[in-house]
Amino acid sequence: METVLSGIRSTGNLHLGNYFGAIKNFIKMQHENRCYFFIADYHSLTTHPTPEDLHQNVKQVLVEYLAAGIDPEVATLYIQSDVPEVAELYLLLSMNAYMGELERCTTFKEKARKQPDNINAGLLTYPVLMAADILIHKAHKVPVGKDQEQHLEMARTFGNRFNRLYKTDYFPEPVAFNFGVELIKIPGLDGSTKMGKSEGEGNAIYLADDEKVIRKKIMRAVSDSGPTEMNQPKSQPIENLFNIMNVVSSPDTVAHFEALYNKCEIRYGDMKKQLAEDVIAFTAPLRERILEIGADDAYLSKVARMGAEKARESASKTIKEVREIIGFKPF
Ligand code: AMP
Repeated sequence: METVLSGIRSTGNLHLGNYFGAIKNFIKMQHENRCYFFIADYHSLTTHPTPEDLHQNVKQVLVEYLAAGIDPEVATLYIQSDVPEVAELYLLLSMNAYMGELERCTTFKEKARKQPDNINAGLLTYPVLMAADILIHKAHKVPVGKDQEQHLEMARTFGNRFNRLYKTDYFPEPVAFNFGVELIKIPGLDGSTKMGKSEGEGNAIYLADDEKVIRKKIMRAVSDSGPTEMNQPKSQPIENLFNIMNVVSSPDTVAHFEALYNKCEIRYGDMKKQLAEDVIAFTAPLRERILEIGADDAYLSKVARMGAEKARESASKTIKEVREIIGFKPF
């Protein structure tokens, strides 16, 4: 069985894009692999959150992943900072990570541009921490988005460099986990091709949004003035509405509106009303679970403890072996 690891940003509520693009796959994957999912709260310190925000953000993310269907009994779901072995491996790997390669990393350059007043060392060594996250469990596969490919490449570099330096084959080479044909991209409601949390108000539908908010967002979604000839190609905003409909509505509903569109008889208001009801039907049970789990501190504490315990079991084994390889030997 292969070990799969995925990091989860510790800020931001989950939206439909995250659900269909990542979590749905995680839910399936957890039964087929040895899965580690961790909430990356050490990483989030690069932006200096307040202690209250840090805790609240981690809690919200934990609650939403559980509500969406990550099973903490099946997968190992843990909070990064509960596993200090990660920080130790990060320190050890950083001794063989070079300034030049870290500075050349595109995500570093981008972040440095975005927060010019706070270009801290944590930003620079972000890929080293990410390598530690992956190597600590000797993960084989990492589901990564396009923006993370370079980080995964660096994790391979650091693992291989360690192997070469100490003449060992200790760390396996982690490769990108490919969801294959199931990879779908959920577009935004603002006419943009991607639903995302940093795309601005009204772009994304969150799993925690209530009915009123969902209706309002969808009714305000960007559309166009309607088709003027039969079988006209769709504009991007209309394509987007159909794409979202494709994942939440029944095939009959989609076919119904496709036919109306092709006959130039579509009324976007009607389509949006239907879409809103179908999104609500889809997200309502998730939202209910979010509220329920969010109020159950005892359960959350149990989940976090169990995750930390399972993750530390694997992490402490790695650290012990790495220490020995490096030459830290007990007297
Ligand atoms: P983010 O927190 O926005 O970086 O998203 C985390 C993961 O969710 C990404 O790596 C993707 O797998 C998935 N994801 C985010 N937005 C979308 C989207 N609009 N459509 C499909 N998948 C998405």
